[in-house]
Amino acid sequence: MNDKMITLARFQYSAEAQIIKGRIESEGIEAFLTDQYTIDTDPLVSNAIGGVKLKVWKQDKKVAEEVLQSISEFSLDDEKNAIECPKCKSEKVRYYTSITDFRSFFSFIICLFVVVLPLYVSYKYRCENCNQKFNIS
Ligand SMILES: [Zn+2]
Repeated sequence: MNDKMITLARFQYSAEAQIIKGRIESEGIEAFLTDQYTIDTDPLVSNAIGGVKLKVWKQDKKVAEEVLQSISEFSLDDEKNAIECPKCKSEKVRYYTSITDFRSFFSFIICLFVVVLPLYVSYKYRCENCNQKFNIS
């Protein structure tokens, strides 16, 4: 058995990393986070130490990458139609969380704990093509 681990992805905040980790584990792949506690303690060091690392065993790399790719596919609406950018009509639209400052980050974390919708986090879609941010009704 190959006991080497590889870094599959890096995340600015551990909340995102936890979600992706859960998704990968649901496929039966062992996944680990490193530096999450350091970053939870002091989110400002996240960039300095390279973010929260999501690691998997080397032999799981291929499957884990496929899972990761399936998560980051372009956004679909409730009827599974691709969401179109209102500006350039591109379908390369991703769901996007705009945690823009430190205050909204803390609000986001606190809200995660009390399980209410984050007040300072606005969920939007972002066009990969023209960078337009928008909401759909
Ligand atoms: Zn666009």
